[in-house]
Amino acid sequence: MGALRSVSVFGATGSIGESTFDLLVRQGGREAYRTVALTGGRNVARLAEQARALGAELAVTAHDECLDELKGALAGSGIEAAAGPTALAEAADRPADWVMSGIVGAAALVPGFRALAHGATLALANKESLVTAGPLLLDAARTHGARILPVDSEHSAIFQSLLSEDMATVERIIITASGGAFRDWPIERLAGATVAEASCHPNWAMGQRITIDSASMFNKALELIETHEFFGITPDRIEVLLHPESLVHALVGFRDGGMIGHLGAPDMRHAIGYALNWPDRAPLPVARLDLAAVGRLTFAAPDPVRYPALRLARAVMETGGLAGAVFNAAKEVALDAFIAGRIGFLDMAGVVETVLERFAASTTLGAAPRTLDIILATDGEARAVAGEVIGAGRRN
Ligand code: NDP
Repeated sequence: MGALRSVSVFGATGSIGESTFDLLVRQGGREAYRTVALTGGRNVARLAEQARALGAELAVTAHDECLDELKGALAGSGIEAAAGPTALAEAADRPADWVMSGIVGAAALVPGFRALAHGATLALANKESLVTAGPLLLDAARTHGARILPVDSEHSAIFQSLLSEDMATVERIIITASGGAFRDWPIERLAGATVAEASCHPNWAMGQRITIDSASMFNKALELIETHEFFGITPDRIEVLLHPESLVHALVGFRDGGMIGHLGAPDMRHAIGYALNWPDRAPLPVARLDLAAVGRLTFAAPDPVRYPALRLARAVMETGGLAGAVFNAAKEVALDAFIAGRIGFLDMAGVVETVLERFAASTTLGAAPRTLDIILATDGEARAVAGEVIGAGRRN
């Protein structure tokens, strides 16, 4: 028997991580895969349960203070336990054929780069990696003969629509958006939207942060930038289309006027399973669409007043360089502040715009960053500025 395929899952306890775990178990678990590392955050009990089920070699929690709990939960299993950001990076240094990048936020950056440096196939769910460090990440993959497979459903859909197509024939790419929790709300109500209301997605079951980002369209803003970075298409040829049913995930328009689109049930196990089995298409446990029962698919242009995040994303793509890192960091801090009840739902876009304006005065904003350290330093600065902007707003 040949060697088992080796896998690591970063962010195993999250929404993407659980779907990945589910597929690994369904596809044979420890009989089919050698699990090198699983990582999580505070949900230590679940991390240990997953590690035991897959017979992982290493389990890492992002938080030093959770190490004792993790060790206790793994006692007698022979599975190594570690904690903290350095341990996360070291987990990525352990070679694995396939690595899921499912940590939320910029914390996924270092493990992603380290996995690519070891030639892994990086299944990229984490949006922030391409938004903050797109060109560097793609360079790292090229330099090390590694591969990045997109897992965000829209980007997986574009990737699949482009199979055996020539990018030179692509006229435009359209990513669809459900419109999020507030798509049917009158604009006047949005200022008073609560965290609980923003955390209910009409179509997808996802982590809380991405669900709120869907309501504000910051999620789609990140995806616009990801599309630009990953597929190397100019911003003016990327469109967003509201599609409340979330069944068409993306469309590619070609120069002959034809379009190829990708349809599927709103279940992340499709995109994850596609990346896990690529270039094969394995049977997946996702619902099959009954289009006769669906009856109709609807589409509309997004209202720019309702969704200022889309305008900000376009400005970020035009600026390039470090603008993505500033945008993402400011968005993360604004989202934290909204979740903590420090700012209102509509204030998030205002905070991000103000932070971008402050950085626009710097001549280096549009310059291509040469190292990940520069990006991480900018990420830190933008977080600090966003904190000041929020603090000043509360004092006024
Ligand atoms: P979740 O919040 O559900 O899970 C995040 C994971 O990261 C958990 O394992 C969490 O651990 C861990 N984590 C949290 N903070 C840190 C940190 N500072 N350092 C290391 N690990 C940390 O997020 P999702 O699964 O929803 O999303 C993950 C990524 O995938 C995001 O970038 C998101 O935008 C993207 N994505 C998600 C989709 C979805 O359907 N959910 C769809 C497309 C993209 P713990 O929970 O144990 O604390």
